[in-house]
Amino acid sequence: MTVRTRPDLETLPGYLPGRTIPGAIKLASNEVSLGPLPSVRGVIAEAAAGINRYPDMGVTALVDRLAAKLSVEPSRLAVGCGSVALCQQLVQAMCEPGDGVMFPWRSFEAYPIVTQIGGARAIKVPLTGAHALDLDAMLAAITDDTRVIYVCTPNNPTGTTLRRAELERFLDAVPRGPLVVLDEAYKEFITDPDVPDGIEVARGRDNVAVLRTFSKAYGLAGLRVGYCYAPEEVAAAMRKVCVPFSVNMIAQAAAIASLDAEDELMERCRVISAERERVRAELLAMGYEVPETQANFVWLPLAERTPAFNAHCLEQKLVVRAFGEEGARVTISTAEENDLFLAAARSFLVG
Ligand code: PMP
Repeated sequence: MTVRTRPDLETLPGYLPGRTIPGAIKLASNEVSLGPLPSVRGVIAEAAAGINRYPDMGVTALVDRLAAKLSVEPSRLAVGCGSVALCQQLVQAMCEPGDGVMFPWRSFEAYPIVTQIGGARAIKVPLTGAHALDLDAMLAAITDDTRVIYVCTPNNPTGTTLRRAELERFLDAVPRGPLVVLDEAYKEFITDPDVPDGIEVARGRDNVAVLRTFSKAYGLAGLRVGYCYAPEEVAAAMRKVCVPFSVNMIAQAAAIASLDAEDELMERCRVISAERERVRAELLAMGYEVPETQANFVWLPLAERTPAFNAHCLEQKLVVRAFGEEGARVTISTAEENDLFLAAARSFLVG
């Protein structure tokens, strides 16, 4: 018998990263274009000097710093190689073969991938006509063997965000059994006071976890570090299924330094969130449909015009993120780059 790989991988959707095109401006991956926070840069260079040694596998210093900052027990935290790795660990930690993993769709494209890799069954629940999570439909789709429910807020790629009352109503109605995972990758850009802090919401509940990342607002996408706040036994199981040493020592040091640079973070997020409102207002004035967004991106549900919009942006040397014939997601960047995008959006309508 010759070697063979898992037959079901034939149907595994590929993760399509935002493209980097030399000479073009990348607005395709919801990164910040400003780099790491200023005070973190030196720490990264210093940490690099120690990479002949293995990193601390328990990520102790970062976990302790996070626990103190968030006022949570360290035993309830799991740190991973980006929050996408934590998504995968959650499925591995929670699901036996064939168990259900629910997620809204369209949402973060890794959810179906980690579900299938983990041997679980995807339960995809379409968004509402307003591009928001359909919480009633999600409640109705819960089965006895649903183990994980991803709730992406703000939702990637549509930007729509759950307000406190609707989220709490949903959590109150979820039956005992599944773990609800609030994916807050874009949390730092939220300005609406009605949007709750996921950890505050999760605190009094034993079936809610929260995912966060240093990839977006903190500007550390290339270092790969994120964390999960979860019920203690879930966090422990996530640590068990983690690839040993997967959070490298530069990432650990940079994440700690980033947590110490709160003022720099807030200033950066304030500017980006204000730019988001400006870009959205200008797009609306041009006649585009743009759902309200609390993230560092806007969603243009252009349907069959999406490929042409994408091509037009590429001609202007702007890389946006097109999803088939659904729409385009565009990252908010500096005022100058946002202006270039707005000019492209305007000329698309003329062309
Ligand atoms: N969750 C959401 C909603 C995301 O959009 C992303 C990144 N695109 C991630 C998680 C993963 O981010 P990372 O692995 O870089 O932490």
